[in-house]
Amino acid sequence: MASQNPLDISTRFSQLPSAFFTAVKPQPLVNTRWMAWNASLATQLGLPHFAPTDDLKHQLVGEAEHPLFSPLAMKYAGHQFGSYNPDLGDGRGLLLCELSDSTGTVFDLHLKGAGLTPYSRMGDGRAVIRSTIREYLCSEAMAGLGIATTRALGMLASDTPVYREKQEFGALLLRVAESHIRFGHFEHFFYSDQLAELSLLADKVIEWYWPELSSAEQPYAAMFQQVVNNTALMIAQWQAAGFCHGVMNTDNMSILGQTFDYGPFAFLDDYDPNYICNHSDYQGRYAFNQQPRIALWNLSALGHALSPLIENKQIEAALGQFEPLLQQYYSQHMRAKLGLHNTLAEDGELFVTLFELLEQAKPDYPRFMRGLANIDKDGEQAVIDLFIDRPAATAWLNRYLARCALERDEEGMAVPADERCRKMRMVNPKYVLRNYLLQNAIDKAEQGDYADIEQLARVLAAPFDEHPEDEMLAQLPPAWGKGMEISCSS
Ligand code: AMP
Ligand code: MG
Repeated sequence: MASQNPLDISTRFSQLPSAFFTAVKPQPLVNTRWMAWNASLATQLGLPHFAPTDDLKHQLVGEAEHPLFSPLAMKYAGHQFGSYNPDLGDGRGLLLCELSDSTGTVFDLHLKGAGLTPYSRMGDGRAVIRSTIREYLCSEAMAGLGIATTRALGMLASDTPVYREKQEFGALLLRVAESHIRFGHFEHFFYSDQLAELSLLADKVIEWYWPELSSAEQPYAAMFQQVVNNTALMIAQWQAAGFCHGVMNTDNMSILGQTFDYGPFAFLDDYDPNYICNHSDYQGRYAFNQQPRIALWNLSALGHALSPLIENKQIEAALGQFEPLLQQYYSQHMRAKLGLHNTLAEDGELFVTLFELLEQAKPDYPRFMRGLANIDKDGEQAVIDLFIDRPAATAWLNRYLARCALERDEEGMAVPADERCRKMRMVNPKYVLRNYLLQNAIDKAEQGDYADIEQLARVLAAPFDEHPEDEMLAQLPPAWGKGMEISCSS
């Protein structure tokens, strides 16, 4: 067990050579106040000395020193919409410190929206209230769904004006992640020909996150395989959950395969595979159904950046594993969502017809999946009612239920519908962070009312459970809130 001694901190990133970062202090904001505090995460991380106090607020905005913080802006680069940009880095976020949780796992405490850094380029170094709430709630929603993600410990609003499409106000997000190392960190050292730093970074990633790989025959190749694997798992989870990230630039890809840098993301309402949530993504590069292909593209970019360290054929071999791994993970997740744990010859056909039905009819995706999981309680009609073409839905449903009847448990016994459905409810959420819910929470928060944020955070931490008092959060979106396109400005 790691001790709770505040001195028991690791400052490992700040001990890297200066090419990795610049030390920067946060810049003050006017009249900051706490919008949310994630007490359960603080407890889980063993951070009793962290609480949403005035002291912490002053320390976060640089008005007072915090004994644990030695803030720094990381240098990285990355491919944005397919083009390499060497000038990226933490332009508005700072790594405050690294801490150990009660299991000894080290995590980063990062402050997003902290002010200007040497990597701010034309930006103002700020994040607005709207985007901060979006990241806070979505990272907690993803955690509730069991999808690898950065986390949110708290957030602050302020009265400092910040200019986007209109005037908004500055905010701060206290982000927690096992790593803030991105694909773009490696790309930076590769493209700037700093090969000693490139291999040092790879050594540190192995030492910090995957020490068991240091004894592999080819540790760097093993590290890359691990990134490919983790990314495949993350993307499979996104696709199964109907999550659309929106800006899968390589600077937004975590080396650990955790969902990272929430911007114009969305969860699917209607099942539209071509859905583009990012208002600025004119070509649909990051459309929902493009995410697997883009993840592979990003991994290829990372592989290229690692080419001084790993033989080409090993890079190719690791990349070649991406699609089979993705298929395997996606299939596992979709099978669990459908309650089909046995593998039967006819299953491929059942899946093909399922996606044909979904793509053609575009029912509400979360409702449809939860409807299948509730068939024992609510019956088939509740699912069929989601479709205009009811005969098509009925035909598929009959086929699906006939397949369910063939399901056998480990003892070879038929699986009763209520047992199947009980398990399905544990992987098909009733509550999903739909964009309309977020928009309502943001509108209220901008008036100083944070009740919706608290309610959403609480419910989305357990999205598979019933929350009778919060039933309205499970409603279908109103017409204005369906398939929203979200501004990239944040
Ligand atoms: P993002 O699109 O949020 O992933 O950011 C891409 C790059 O732009 C990163 O280097 C960010 O740090 C930087 N950036 C984004 N917004 C701002 C801002 N308002 N001020 C300074 N830098 C920013
Ligand atoms: Mg980013």
